[in-house]
Order: sequence, then C-alpha cells, then structure tokens
Amino acid sequence: MNVDVLIVGAGTSGLVAGIASAKNYRGTVCVLERNPEPGCKFLLSGSGQCNVTHGGSITDFLNHYGDTKKARFVQPALLAFDNIAVTEFFEQRGVPILEREDGKIFPKSLKSEDLLKVLVAELRKQGGILQTETVVENITKTDNGFLLATNRGEFCTKKLILATGGQSYPSTGSRGDGFRFAERLGHHLIEPKPVLTPVIVRNYPFAGLSGISFWSSKIEVYRNGKRLKSGRGDILLTHRGLSGPGILDLSRDIEPDDELRISIIKPEEFTPEVFTGKKTLKNALQRFDIAERFLVQILDSFHIAPDQPATETNRETRKKIELALTCYPFIVERLGGWNEAMATGGGVVLDEVNRKTMESRIVPDLYFCGELLDIDGNTGGYNIQFALSSGFLAGNSLQHHS
Ligand SMILES: Cc1cc2nc3c(=O)[nH]c(=O)nc-3n(C[C@H](O)[C@H](O)[C@H](O)COP(=O)(O)OP(=O)(O)OC[C@H]3O[C@@H](n4cnc5c(N)ncnc54)[C@H](O)[C@@H]3O)c2cc1C
Repeated sequence: MNVDVLIVGAGTSGLVAGIASAKNYRGTVCVLERNPEPGCKFLLSGSGQCNVTHGGSITDFLNHYGDTKKARFVQPALLAFDNIAVTEFFEQRGVPILEREDGKIFPKSLKSEDLLKVLVAELRKQGGILQTETVVENITKTDNGFLLATNRGEFCTKKLILATGGQSYPSTGSRGDGFRFAERLGHHLIEPKPVLTPVIVRNYPFAGLSGISFWSSKIEVYRNGKRLKSGRGDILLTHRGLSGPGILDLSRDIEPDDELRISIIKPEEFTPEVFTGKKTLKNALQRFDIAERFLVQILDSFHIAPDQPATETNRETRKKIELALTCYPFIVERLGGWNEAMATGGGVVLDEVNRKTMESRIVPDLYFCGELLDIDGNTGGYNIQFALSSGFLAGNSLQHHS
C-alpha cells in the first residue's frame, strides 16, 4: 500500500498527529496500530479518568519535564497546541472539561473513553485512515521515502511520523519498538528507563502501614552522601516502599542505593511547645496531622510509650522524634519496573530532532512525537499534554517540508 503520510502508533500522540496531518497535508494519511483498538494507554490514564492536562499558564509547564534543556525542547510544541487549545478542542466536540482545585484537568464525565472517541472521530472526519491490528516490524529508508514491513504486508510512504510511545505498561502496545526503529534509521538513544515509578525501600519498616499518606512533604535525594535533588509533594506508604506524586515525580533522578530523606513536617514546626500541656505524647504529636498508626510505630521503634505524658519526654527522646519527623532516611533498593512505571525516561536524543517541527535532523521526512522522545513529564497531566502537543506539531509541520 502506498500512502503520503504514515503514522506508526494510534496512541495519544499518533491520533493527534493523524488529525493534524490529515487536516493540513494534501494526500493520504494512514495511522497504523498494532492493537485491535486505538489509544489503549490513553484509556487507562489517570485510572481511566484521564488527567489530560493541567491548568495555569503554559509557560509554567516548562519546569515539569526535568531540566532546562527539556524545557527548551518542549516549548514550541506546547505553544503550538497548549492546555487551553486542548480543553477547547474537546469542549467544542461535545465533551465538557473540568479543572480540579489542584489544577489537574479531566473530562467532566471522568471517563477517558469520552476523550478518545473525540480523537478517533476527528481523525476519520479529517479523512485519516486508521488501520488496526497492524504491527510494524521493520522500517527502511528508501530513495523517495520509507518502506515499512508489517504483518499485513508492506507500506510505502513519503513522510513518516513515529508515535510508538515508550516502553512502560508494555501490555498497552508500547513495547519500545520505536526505539529500535529510530536507532536503525540512524538516531541515538538516551537509555530508556522506567520513570514515574514507585521506590522499593531496603529493610522497609512500614509494610504494615501501606495506604498512609503524608501531604506536601519535602523529599531529598542523596547519593554517596551528597544531596542531588529535592522536591516537595504528597507521599504514599506502600507495602514495599514509597509512592505518591512527590516520589513519582522525583523517580527520574533516583537510583538504587540512593538515600531519600523525608521531612513529614517542617523543622520549624517542631517547637518545645509540642511537649507542654496535659496530653499524652501520642496525642501531643497529633497536632502535626500525621496518622496515629505511623506515630505509634515510630515511638515503638524508639521504645517510647505512646501514652506517656508529653511533658515527661526527655531531650534525647525529643531529638529522636524530631529527626524521624523532619529527616526520615530510606535507602532505595530499586525502582518499580516497566509494568509499574507510568512513563519512560530517556528515548530519542533531543539534539537530533528539530524542536520547532519534530522532524529528524538526521533523516529528512521522518518525525517523532510523544514518549518516544527523551521527554518525560511529572504527574498532573504533563505527559498527555506533551504527547498531544508534539503530535499536533509533527502533523502540522509536514506541509512546510513537502
Ligand atoms: C497507568 C498510566 C496512567 C497514566 N496516567 C496519565 C495521566 O493521567 N496523565 C498524563 O498526562 N499521563 C498519564 N500517563 C502517561 C501517558 O499516558 C503517556 O505519556 C502518553 O499516553 C504517551 O503517548 P504516546 O503517543 O507517546 O504513546 P502511546 O499512547 O503509548 O501510543 C503508542 C502506540 O503505538 C502503538 N505501537 C507501538 N509499537 C507499534 C508497532 N510496532 N506497530 C504498530 N503500533 C505500534 C502502541 O500499541 C500504542 O497504541 C499514564 C501512563 C500510564 C501507564
């Protein structure tokens, strides 16, 4: 089959790349997808509710992709199809959108399928072809385009957009194929790794407390005694270690054997006043709004009776409690693997891609979008927003290079 534009992957970025290409490029546009249905990962995003983007100014998004180099790369795409444009896109097609107090944006119905239906309908409306159950196995550059070998025969195309996603949740169809294709076409990779993933802690003492959360805690990452990174966010105790947005967002910078120091409360909150009055020690500490079961376990670990009068807490004991609440150390055994990670760190090297068009700087007429690139965002809608924006920019840029 001969087409003018081929998009590999009908996921988040591929569907938008298809819509934009079909709208803007004269010629046949076809999106190939290995699964029987498109958008498998999009559907399960945000626990099936789809946190599609975030509120606020799009320039505030730039800090949510790791470092300044990443911020520079994502900027043109984010500006081309920003969070307001995304919201309007869905609302104008009949899906009301809701911004939560924490800035996360969802469909009002809290059903990702409502958004997916819009993407698929729009692709068809613009004349794009969606061909499912088609696994791209190999890609070769030819004199006038690309030749794709699939389980359904060969496809020839002038322009190729790779939208194969990353490698996390491989059951959704994103199994890292795009990394292989990109390398074969001459691109280099930053070694892909699971990110937005929980941390498994060595000799973890809180397995029995899984489900307890701490709000807006400070998290510091130490490697060989040196502080590498710090952040603030909610933390969830799991049966094997730590999760929650604060941990997930830092996970791209965490490695096995790192030490995480967690401040559940601010050091300045721990005043001598805590130990005055007629309360028991446990009750006195509850002013910090920390789950009682956690406090009791901490006190037990120091062999301190939770019901002793707070006023009878000696200096040494106060110091121990203070350290536990303001600087609790955890040693990282490992990070959650591909089946747990919500995104892929690493990917196609950014210097090899034109950030203003998403076109390869190595192979003309080859474009990249979504998680396949060395971009991963924080929790809060930043990954889907980048996938949508980069897909849009890739599809929209074709005309300028025809
Ligand atoms: C559990 C979970 C929850 C998440 N929740 C959120 C959230 O709420 N908000 C947010 O912003 N982000 C969330 N994310 C991340 C977000 O879903 C992804 O970053 C985004 O969907 C990536 O889009 P993509 O187009 O790059 O890849 P994908 O959406 O993964 O699409 C890639 C597509 O390519 C297809 N494909 C791959 N190889 C081939 C091949 N060889 N031949 C044919 N087809 C192929 C795949 O089957 C797949 O359909 C979540 C991720 C997970 C795993």
